Amino acid sequence: MQFIDLGAQRARIGAGIDDAIAAVVAHGDFILGPEVADFERALGGYVGAEHVVSCANGTDALVLALRAFGLGAGQKVIVPSFTFAATAEAVVLAGGVPVFADVERSTFNLGPTEVEAAFAAHPDAAGVVAVDLFGLPADYAGLREVLPPGAFLLADAAQSMGAERDGSKAGSLAEVTTTSFFPAKPLGCYGDGGAVLTQRREVADVVRSLRVHGKGEHKYDNERIGTNSRLDSIQAAVLLPKLGILEEEMRSRQEVAARYAVGLGSVLEVPQVPDGVRSAWAQYTIVHPDRDAIVEQLRAEGIPSAIYYPRPLHLQTAYRDFPTVADLTVAETLSTSVVSLPMHPYLSHDEQDRVVAAVRAAVTGGAGR
Ligand SMILES: *Cc1c(COP(=O)(O)O)cnc(C)c1O
Repeated sequence: MQFIDLGAQRARIGAGIDDAIAAVVAHGDFILGPEVADFERALGGYVGAEHVVSCANGTDALVLALRAFGLGAGQKVIVPSFTFAATAEAVVLAGGVPVFADVERSTFNLGPTEVEAAFAAHPDAAGVVAVDLFGLPADYAGLREVLPPGAFLLADAAQSMGAERDGSKAGSLAEVTTTSFFPAKPLGCYGDGGAVLTQRREVADVVRSLRVHGKGEHKYDNERIGTNSRLDSIQAAVLLPKLGILEEEMRSRQEVAARYAVGLGSVLEVPQVPDGVRSAWAQYTIVHPDRDAIVEQLRAEGIPSAIYYPRPLHLQTAYRDFPTVADLTVAETLSTSVVSLPMHPYLSHDEQDRVVAAVRAAVTGGAGR
């Protein structure tokens, strides 16, 4: 059993992907070639974003977006502590200072209460990066209500391409969104890739300039200090057919998640999805005080699992000296009690039944079968 089964997807659309890669090799326009523009248009159409600017990876996408917001040196940015390190890392790389806030117990995301408390403690913060953790979009409408005038709200949707909230797709829920096409993400390529998605033309224009060394009219006209952060044509060629089946894969993921909820909901805490939300189910993450017993049981039965994330960022060596918003008990508790189960669109009923039986056995002392 695979934790995330990219092989099953390849068996389905691999031949088309290989042809698309071969076409790039044949035309030789390897960087920002025609496939890149096609993919940017297709992704924008799918999520409802006016502008999509692809780049080299999801971390760069965050840095480019923060720079496009005009983040000043030393300015504070509120981020959740319970996330992948790149969310906070990008703030530092863009010259800012991450301020770690706690997350909601029910969604694992920053909520209006946490963000309001963060701005009360750090009224000088320039903005917020909210993360759609494990594929569940944050409550952007709620966050917007507690945002002080002039503060920015950036969505880190690295894990949530394909997710929806109140009829809109991740990528169009905040004014500016970033994502990652790392292979294991819900929409992944065959290497590194990322994008900034926005309704704001001026943000898109700045990011388009920044990703090619701050170019102006042309490559050798430098208007600002930029970087090299572009998407390879081969990666765009891989992403186009994958985007074509994303919606179908999303529906399969909902079925897998629903079966897990039925099998496990009576013995432990399964993910809660608020009304009007469709998670992209990048991870299916359960909570139990004795998660080590679950991991052990799964391992004994040859079933993969993973812990996202074993330590909140405010306790990491690299980040422990940055400011926090007083109380981070939810992040700390989650880091010791979460475990993610195999989750992908091609998980069979048999495989799922084995996972459910093993988890139930671990938490009910063998009586769960
Ligand atoms: C994966 C991820 C990133 C970074 O993406 P890369 O493409 O690996 O740089 C940023 N934020 C979150 C929440 C992620 O899961």
